Amino acid sequence: MSLVREFGSGRLFLFGLDHDSEIVASITNLAERLGVEAGTVAAIGALKRAEIGYYDQNSHEYRAIEIDRPMEITSLIGNISTRDGKPFLHAHATLADSEGDVRGGHLSSGTVFAAEVYLQELVGQSPVRRHDPTTDLFLWSETD
Ligand code: ZN
Repeated sequence: MSLVREFGSGRLFLFGLDHDSEIVASITNLAERLGVEAGTVAAIGALKRAEIGYYDQNSHEYRAIEIDRPMEITSLIGNISTRDGKPFLHAHATLADSEGDVRGGHLSSGTVFAAEVYLQELVGQSPVRRHDPTTDLFLWSETD
């Protein structure tokens, strides 16, 4: 097990994102502005377009999946921790099209139509992301 850390419950925020804003940057900027260094994130709403990623475990590269049509955010779940000294959002999403068919993966970017976000601050030492040579990902490291 690479990291186990206990936190207390901090502040709890609900917020709506601006139409046409970029969802990953907006949530990250909000966490930074509110001083949230560790937390959990959930959201529902709709995106005008999105890019999700699938991490190829053999080539160690993200395969980008472009979705250039309106989608419902049926579920977005993620966390805030620290990378390069700043709050970093890692989020995954499932997005549903007009038929209710779902695509999902690592949320790289998305243009907001409307989105309602729930942010739970965690009080304690924020996990720090460092490069992990085994996976080539930036994972939580015990040594910070
Ligand atoms: Zn991911």
